[in-house]
Amino acid sequence: MSTSLPPGILEALQIAPGTAPDGRTFQEVLLDLTLAHASDDGVLTNKYDLLCPRGCRSVILKRGVGQLVERSGIEMDSPGHPVDPALDPLPAPPATVQWWLVTPSPMTFENIGFSRSVVRTGDNTASPKPMKFLICADCDVGPLGWCEEGGKEFWLACSRVKYAVPLSD
Ligand SMILES: [Zn+2]
Repeated sequence: MSTSLPPGILEALQIAPGTAPDGRTFQEVLLDLTLAHASDDGVLTNKYDLLCPRGCRSVILKRGVGQLVERSGIEMDSPGHPVDPALDPLPAPPATVQWWLVTPSPMTFENIGFSRSVVRTGDNTASPKPMKFLICADCDVGPLGWCEEGGKEFWLACSRVKYAVPLSD
């Protein structure tokens, strides 16, 4: 399922997780990375293809597929384990985080991998369901996001992916 990008398509100015080349924060550039959904009022989709944050060139999601949703964070990083340097630290719950919501199945992604199931922490759900983390299908960097085991909603942290922004854009 690995996708290699045609040469030339991505003379990508890739925004590193957390900051843009001009020093703006991710929140500030977020609106530049979204596009109003063609048919659905108020829905913002990802304007650019989403790529692996480590730069292995794996395409995670095609443009226009994700839906921008702000909701409380999930404890994705295990305490005591250093976060991969390619990944932006996420605020601890209940702070909100910007997510790309992807539905209804893993087939919606171009390339995605999953961790083993873990019992989730960091929210107020009385009976937490097992969840899986989303990781790069090629290099396994992660967590990039999460889903409930068997669920139909897949949440990709907006600050943990790169954006294939064409230089001419
Ligand atoms: Zn990768």
